[in-house]
Amino acid sequence: RSTGRAGIATSIFTEMTELARRTGAVNLGQGVPDLDSPPALLREVAEAVLAGHNQYPPAHGLPELRQAVAAHQQRRYGLDYDPDGEVLVTTGATEALAAALLALTGPGDEILTLDPAYDAYPAGARLSGATLVTVPLVPDGDGFALDTDALRAAVTPRTRVLVLNSPHNPTGKVLRRDELAAVAALCRDHGLTVVTDEVYEHLVYDGGSHLPLAALPGMRDRTVTISSAGKTFNVTGWKVGWICAPAPLLAAITSVKQFLTYASGTPYQRALAHMLGAVEPWARELRGLLRGNRTLLGEGLAAAGLRPYRAESGYFMQADIRPWGYRDGFTFCRELPGLAGVVAIPTSAFRQGADPAPWLVRFSFCRRTEELRRAVTKLAAAA
Ligand code: PMP
Ligand code: GLN
Repeated sequence: RSTGRAGIATSIFTEMTELARRTGAVNLGQGVPDLDSPPALLREVAEAVLAGHNQYPPAHGLPELRQAVAAHQQRRYGLDYDPDGEVLVTTGATEALAAALLALTGPGDEILTLDPAYDAYPAGARLSGATLVTVPLVPDGDGFALDTDALRAAVTPRTRVLVLNSPHNPTGKVLRRDELAAVAALCRDHGLTVVTDEVYEHLVYDGGSHLPLAALPGMRDRTVTISSAGKTFNVTGWKVGWICAPAPLLAAITSVKQFLTYASGTPYQRALAHMLGAVEPWARELRGLLRGNRTLLGEGLAAAGLRPYRAESGYFMQADIRPWGYRDGFTFCRELPGLAGVVAIPTSAFRQGADPAPWLVRFSFCRRTEELRRAVTKLAAAA
């Protein structure tokens, strides 16, 4: 893997999707849905393009989308943001994360996050020159445990930002209210700014719900909340994300964002502004579909002799590969296309620190049910 000046290698998603393409295997690696989007949303984009809404939007994002984002945060979580100055539209959550880390951290600073972590956090730390410090999420039964005392112990005078991702990729863990309260307390005690990645906010299953850290006492004014349309509407290729943050933090992030992309996606922003107001019924339907997929994958993995973990949210399920005689996810994932015609991602690819469970592999269930059925049939045949 070649690395550039910042020492950042090819993303694991690019690598594994290329492996699926080369081998013709079913791609349960990258979290890229092939599911339908709301037809009205697609029509609105087409209409916006044909009506000529094809030039730069304002650098902060279209006012109607900023208003829709602010209304969404108020309606769902009781959080108030001023659409003019506290909401910023970005090119996906990815740009939001990069702009936030570049704006808020630099050489000599530490960024604290959980391990495993979405790959944009270590990359963002490298780009900004800050040091990433991680605290492990440890396998616990069929889920993962957060040691909030360990998180507190990892804070140093150099800690500038905590990056918190719940619902969590790759584990599917949703932080409970008591865990969030402990995180909030340590941020208040140490004066930390928090960047939260909430892109799976609408995909929490089994009657659970998402609680933004910003909604906890004393947290709104120190929290940069990031989300995105990609996962909520199955439009990952549109790359429309957003940030809600108090004005001084948002101003610093906006100044960086201008020179990453300035702005993007005018017709998409227009369509999403309308759709975000009607997200709830759509998200309910999508959760139903994904829950069914999750059951199919979980039962399929178990039938193939792999031990699936609980997936409380999002697109992904962890499985223990040791019953197949493997102890290393990288070896397993390299051999799986040949063995079973399926591509998955070693969870170790998301780990920065010592790995307490190198035998975990991440399978995605954001694919059409027929595709998942094909994958589990192949896994059963290879077992
Ligand atoms: N954060 C997490 C946790 C993700 O899984 C992803 C992948 N979609 C992103 C951020 C990036 O989101 P976007 O596609 O909106 O840039
Ligand atoms: N979020 C997706 C995943 O975790 C992939 C995003 C990407 O390809 N960069 O698989």
